[in-house]
Amino acid sequence: MAKLDILISGAGIAGPVLAYWLKRGVDCSITIVERSPVLRVSGKNIDIRGSAVDVIRQMNLEEKVKSKRTNEIGLAFVDGAGCEKAKYPKGEDSAQQSFTSQYEILRGDLVRILFDASKESAQYIFDESIMSVEQTNDYKAQVVFTGGHPKTSYDLVVLADGLSSQGRKRIFGKGENGEDYIRPLGQYCAYFTIPKNARDDNWARWYNATRGRVVFLRPSNDDTTRAYLAVTRSDVFKFNEVFESTDIDKKRLLKDEFVGAGWQTERVLSEMENASDFHCHMVAQVKMLNFVKGNVALVGDSGYCPSPISGMGSSLAIMGAYVLAGEISETPFDIPQALKRYQTAMKPLVHQSQKLPPGAPQIANPQTQMGISVLYGCLAIASSNWIAKLASVFPRFTSVNQRAPAYPRLQQ
Ligand SMILES: Cc1cc2nc3c(=O)[nH]c(=O)nc-3n(C[C@H](O)[C@H](O)[C@H](O)COP(=O)(O)OP(=O)(O)OC[C@H]3O[C@@H](n4cnc5c(N)ncnc54)[C@H](O)[C@@H]3O)c2cc1C
Repeated sequence: MAKLDILISGAGIAGPVLAYWLKRGVDCSITIVERSPVLRVSGKNIDIRGSAVDVIRQMNLEEKVKSKRTNEIGLAFVDGAGCEKAKYPKGEDSAQQSFTSQYEILRGDLVRILFDASKESAQYIFDESIMSVEQTNDYKAQVVFTGGHPKTSYDLVVLADGLSSQGRKRIFGKGENGEDYIRPLGQYCAYFTIPKNARDDNWARWYNATRGRVVFLRPSNDDTTRAYLAVTRSDVFKFNEVFESTDIDKKRLLKDEFVGAGWQTERVLSEMENASDFHCHMVAQVKMLNFVKGNVALVGDSGYCPSPISGMGSSLAIMGAYVLAGEISETPFDIPQALKRYQTAMKPLVHQSQKLPPGAPQIANPQTQMGISVLYGCLAIASSNWIAKLASVFPRFTSVNQRAPAYPRLQQ
């Protein structure tokens, strides 16, 4: 059988994991195009849960991930004076993952680890992206690039380019009833790094202000603190249209929104001005009936983003990449069939990971002071015997330590 030519768009989490596994199970040559001129290593803490831990273990990366863990020892909900209202410590082992996971790592550290593990498996091309894909009758995809990479034909094109995937829009169009696949959850958020100060210790601190505003500070593994601002509002759908336009000053927008919100907001807003890794986006899920079409597949956030609220984004991306590589390794001579099996295998996991607690995110981001008091009261009660209580509302706490499906050809 001829060697397969595979193109992956996106060097985030899913793209590198996919390249790593494909190279182990399939005779192929892999190209990864990344739109950014350099590896995008911004973002705050993310974590790895469920069978994705098993995949990382099988990549011999568990120790590397552990060596880069953040120093976070748990999550505290605080009021405007900084008084702790409810505390959730990190679980003691990987079978007891809390809000703070055993595998809590800065997104940038995980991206670098996965890039290093996969750089021998693929040719990485930065500052490049797909302009168009045309699927032909001979099961080839003719790809034209925006930045000068020569037009080439591929046996498989995988879009691992995140929530706002342009390729998804072009190739998959809109849903059956004309709806966009992106389902906004009524929230937008921003992540950036600020200098650590004397008030920051190894607890993550979550502060709710009225009008659905959240200021969230998390420790890292260096001299920085990772800041997260989120706004949840009933008029956010109208707001999204404005927000998604590229020429808007999002830092200004957030400043206006958060000014006077209390607790450490003034510090965070002032540091935000200088933050070079500011990343801001709408909080949304991607819901699709089909995330494969011919010989094009979506993997990770581009096909089934569960949103940061689920806490499952990176785990689902890792699992999706592993399963896709596994299915292709079973029938490399029949890519469309392999893609169909990939979709069938992923659907239950996607469904489970996209389940959000009832009323989320609005319930955790009240509009009024009374709502915040009720929320903190409930969180204080739930903080005793937290494992059972969290597991009953958050899917991410139930799927710990599962084995990833076995694909014998990937182990060779
Ligand atoms: C900069 C950034 C910061 C983030 N921070 C957080 C965070 O703090 N917490 C959290 O829970 N989640 C965060 N996320 C989302 C999180 O990484 C994903 O939910 C999850 O890890 C799934 O990974 P993915 O590989 O599917 O997508 P992503 O990690 O989003 O990676 C997609 C990659 O594709 C690239 N790309 C986009 N469009 C194109 C294109 N047209 N052509 C080529 N490449 C393209 C992007 O630059 C990116 O490198 C962040 C994502 C990004 C991009």
